Amino acid sequence: MVLKLINDIKPKHKHRVITLGYAVAVTSAFILSLTNNSSVNASVYSKEKTEYLMLENAVSESIEDTASLYPEDRILNIRSLFDTVYNYQRIHDYDKLITVKKGDTFISILNTLGLNYEEAHNLYTTFKKVYNPANIRVGQKILVSGQYDEELKKMTDIESIVIQENHIKSYALLKNKNGAFEAKVNQEELITEVNSATGSISGSLSKSMNSQGVPNKIVHEFIKIFSYSVDFRRDVRKGDKFEIIFENNITKDGKVASYGNILYAGLQLRNEKVSLYRFKDAKGNVDYYTEKGQAMKKTLHRKPLAFQNARISSPFGKRRHPIKKRWIIHWGVDYAAPKGTKIFAGGDGVVQVAKYNGGYGNYIKIRHNSEYSTAYGHIWKFAKGIKPGVRVKQGQVIAYVGSTGLSTGPHLHYEVIRNGKRINPTTIKAATGNNLTGKDLKKFKLLVSDIKSSYNKMFALKDSKKISKK
Ligand SMILES: [Zn+2]
Repeated sequence: MVLKLINDIKPKHKHRVITLGYAVAVTSAFILSLTNNSSVNASVYSKEKTEYLMLENAVSESIEDTASLYPEDRILNIRSLFDTVYNYQRIHDYDKLITVKKGDTFISILNTLGLNYEEAHNLYTTFKKVYNPANIRVGQKILVSGQYDEELKKMTDIESIVIQENHIKSYALLKNKNGAFEAKVNQEELITEVNSATGSISGSLSKSMNSQGVPNKIVHEFIKIFSYSVDFRRDVRKGDKFEIIFENNITKDGKVASYGNILYAGLQLRNEKVSLYRFKDAKGNVDYYTEKGQAMKKTLHRKPLAFQNARISSPFGKRRHPIKKRWIIHWGVDYAAPKGTKIFAGGDGVVQVAKYNGGYGNYIKIRHNSEYSTAYGHIWKFAKGIKPGVRVKQGQVIAYVGSTGLSTGPHLHYEVIRNGKRINPTTIKAATGNNLTGKDLKKFKLLVSDIKSSYNKMFALKDSKKISKK
């Protein structure tokens, strides 16, 4: 791949058959041996062997043609042919593919190819217009092409230098007609390919999705999209189904260069189907919405932790308090998580309280709108800048898990307060705002029906195939 790309950008070699003013002392004895038709005995560089052999044949033929000439002319003629062959061998086209090693610099690499500091530095400066050669990394590939002098053991002419950035991008210095260097960026154009996959969940979601050709990076994104509405640990069971439509950015020869967006993500749980569609609104904001155009991201987080696998150590509702040793109502959900785990704001809002608060320990309360607030207890420490009056975004880190206040171990106590009443955070469904309206909603509905009509059958088909196999 690297070589293929490099070849694409490399200028076509002009197979120069030498014009360096190199005086060759040709002894008449050697010329005589040539006229006796002995073969030219010199090392031939395999890359150019064919061309060399052709040249050698031409020389032999020409020598025969000189038979009718006067002896002086004959010698002159043969001498010039010999110069041609000799020089052709001495200075030849040369491609050097270099892998950057530890301690290498762009300049030092060029130095080892025979360029002096000034020459190397000039190339460095020109390169800098598109790429800073100081940034070359160990393992990176560099292709230097030009002419190599076998006698001086160095490159006498550089035609191009190509630095491979990754499998779709390279930077090149190319010598133009006037002998000056031009710096260029070569980036292969990518084609966006839309993929779909569906399947039953057995074992882990990642494994189930991987087995249907969904790469890990996309699986993580899928989980992130649903983290506002689904608790994968609690809500997703064996036999539930996933559906996904996602983009791959592929090269012309069909290799995946990078992953694109998830256009649609669906989860068929036991008693509900959650479908989320990617949409860019008129203001240019991208978000995922339910089929009805409700913004999923704006629904309060059910588990506002960086550690999505955190288990519920104590559910919402009546329970026997582990420290007070009596039955009381637990007004939130406890998520066990390692000390220091990031705690996210459950939704956009304004910090109302951020202080030590009795049994809650270090405590934060955020007001999201006139209807909803969330509260966070037993915090180890607050994130930088978190204090009353500060506006926070959903998903922003506000604090770190700890065990302050009445607590037996590191966990997050999370409360969702609706109209002043604490409710179960694991069952919240209501969105807190920013649903699609007007023109955006119209456009969105078209997108939804488009996706549905093109993929629903396919998903059903893939599903039935899977079932019939079993
Ligand atoms: Zn609690």
